[in-house]
Amino acid sequence: MERLLEPTSDPAWLLAKEGFDPLREEIYEARFSVSNGFLGVRGARAVSRGQRWIEPQRTYVAGLFDILGPEHPIPGLVTAAGWLQVRIMPSGGPLVHHPAEVSSHRTTLDMRRGALLTRCRLADHPTVAVRVRTLRLVSLRERAIGVHVVELEIEEGEIEVTLEASFEGLGLGLMSERLEQDLGVWRTRYSGKRVAMAAASSLQIDGSEVAPTMPGPFIWSWHWKTRPGQVVCLARLVAAARGDAQDTDPGRVAWEKLGVARQLGWRKVVLQHEAAWSKRWQCSHFEVGGDPAAEQALRFAAYHLNSAANPADERVSIGARGLTGEDYHGHVFWDTEIYLLPFYTLTWPEAARALLMYRFRTIDGARAKAAGMGWRGAMYAWESADTGAEATPEQVVGPDGRIVDILCGKQEQHITADIAYAVWQYWQATGDEGFLLDAGAEILLETGRFWSSRAQPEADGYCHIRGVIGPDEYHEQIDDNAFTNVMARWNIWRALDVAALLRERWPDRWASLSCRLGLGDTELAQWRTVAETMATGWNPETGLFEEFAGFFDLEKIDLAAYEGRSVPMDVVLGRERTQRSQVVKQADVVALLGLLPEEFPGESGVANFRFYEPRCGHGSSLSGAMHGLVAARLGYSELALRYFRQAVAIDLADTHTAIAAGLHVAALGGTWLTAVFGFAGLSLQGDRIGFDPKLPASWRTLEFGIQWRGRRLRVRIDRAEQLLQATLEAGESMALFVNGSRHDVRRDQVTVCPLYLQR
Ligand code: BGC
Ligand code: BGC
Repeated sequence: MERLLEPTSDPAWLLAKEGFDPLREEIYEARFSVSNGFLGVRGARAVSRGQRWIEPQRTYVAGLFDILGPEHPIPGLVTAAGWLQVRIMPSGGPLVHHPAEVSSHRTTLDMRRGALLTRCRLADHPTVAVRVRTLRLVSLRERAIGVHVVELEIEEGEIEVTLEASFEGLGLGLMSERLEQDLGVWRTRYSGKRVAMAAASSLQIDGSEVAPTMPGPFIWSWHWKTRPGQVVCLARLVAAARGDAQDTDPGRVAWEKLGVARQLGWRKVVLQHEAAWSKRWQCSHFEVGGDPAAEQALRFAAYHLNSAANPADERVSIGARGLTGEDYHGHVFWDTEIYLLPFYTLTWPEAARALLMYRFRTIDGARAKAAGMGWRGAMYAWESADTGAEATPEQVVGPDGRIVDILCGKQEQHITADIAYAVWQYWQATGDEGFLLDAGAEILLETGRFWSSRAQPEADGYCHIRGVIGPDEYHEQIDDNAFTNVMARWNIWRALDVAALLRERWPDRWASLSCRLGLGDTELAQWRTVAETMATGWNPETGLFEEFAGFFDLEKIDLAAYEGRSVPMDVVLGRERTQRSQVVKQADVVALLGLLPEEFPGESGVANFRFYEPRCGHGSSLSGAMHGLVAARLGYSELALRYFRQAVAIDLADTHTAIAAGLHVAALGGTWLTAVFGFAGLSLQGDRIGFDPKLPASWRTLEFGIQWRGRRLRVRIDRAEQLLQATLEAGESMALFVNGSRHDVRRDQVTVCPLYLQR
């Protein structure tokens, strides 16, 4: 029996489902996706027992975008060829009938190993009974490679069987119509991008290789006679390559990579993949004593976050659904910088760097967008695909079936400051000078420049940013959104900081960069004036930010009266009334409090949270986690735990069908944020890293790892013992601030820091 086809023995690493429910399969397909940031494969069934092919197991290749069509020139992620199809055709009737198939099927996502495993017993055939086990993965070690293994163990029956393995779509009708075939290299119809996929399959019976009756390269087939006790193993490897530039030949790359994998053999490919995963888990492992469901949810989040990024590819970023579905056409939003980047920056800086480099490589798109709207600097696309050009559709079909105009592409501008925020956070947490000098400084300067032209001085002496949409998308064409303006001001200050830093530490670099950007002291002085006079909607008497000018005058709606509703508030109230009300779609002022707590002096953090939390309808999957983070920080630990669970449920609860079109990766990143920045109370301020833990009552302990400025730190918070233990696993000694007190942490020594947790 092949050990590699068995899941990890510790159930805490597994997510499993029994049976097969055609109506709910799509949910599991997304949840059980395997991905490595380059290839993503949904968890659909691959083995069919009849004459018919079954549903496609959609495979995505990161960065493979094509426009949806000449009338819809919006780029969308293209589905690549499915490579997991297998059909088993016994003579004398189908191998199984539906009911038996349902009862005997088990699918397991092994998060530790980064693999999807299935097993079932097929016994409804008149004369034959077979146990089937399968494994699929896409390698974390060599991202071009996928592995699929199908093992049949014949329990009884002596019959003739044909087994076929193929790429879907090659004349079989399932290929995405936007791909055109050319000897295993396909070209997207409009964008002309090329992708190649090459595969090799082999079949062994009782350990001996069997010659195929059809030898590939797209369809393989074998024919043999079964006998009880026989073990048949189909193993196939696939290699994929994307050709961006004209001079790379993706076909050659794919065939070469396939050759290397074949030489290694599938078992070695699997073992190398597992070693890569265990390295990832070393950095992103979570333990929650007292709350196994929370622990599993955090592992699930880390599993998909580790699956979504690719540190080796600076041309792609992570779409709102990762590579797990086609919702939002694979587009990249602020979700990545605000909800995902902290995870990567603090557990996988190489991945964070690549994601930020994607923004650097697309900065010309952002410059063009700013210029096209009459502003200076770089204004990033609200929805971004491969070039950085604005990819937001101008219209979509609303929840009531009516066509709705989408203004986000023009008005949801805070994304530009969100990117600057992530750049600065990465720089602060890693001290990566190469990145700052090559890319980060330019992003900060060009975004700071954008805001300094975007905010206009008016007669009242303040600079205003009019006509925007904040994170709360229920209100459009608004003025002075507090989130936007305060983040913009912060962005300008950081641009001025980086200018001063370069001037002082790297004067040559400053000279060349400022010359190239045409940036002089007069302009820098103008930026400073804008930052100093930015309108923010802050009321010093109440300590409240007004979400935007006029928000306080809108109709107040008692959201408690709508508890238990199954649709978002804008559907309950209708679009127009929602716009005239104080109902907030998602964390907005609360998100500002989450990102820039220092902008909320004294008790004003509490005041703003208490004001805005009851007004939020949580109409976006991003909302719960940010509320959880802020609630935890403010000490409302039980409320925070409710929000944490709400965020977790989005992709894990069996009641949710919204995940059919892909997982909500921002909510997954958000659960990590709630745990680390909320419950553990992590703060990063300049050279200081600190913890101010506030665990919920049911969490006895919380243990996790982070990376910071070249060090790997393991943190364990123990509620009963009232202490935080820090272990430096790699890197030089450092200082850590716990509840405000300084502790020195040395290599391979456990530092014990007392805590003041509520018991
Ligand atoms: C989202 C926007 C997005 C739009 C078009 C809406 O549902 O809330 O953020 O830009 O869809 O994709
Ligand atoms: C949210 C946005 C988000 C987008 C993609 C929308 O519904 O309002 O904040 O960026 O979805 O996840």
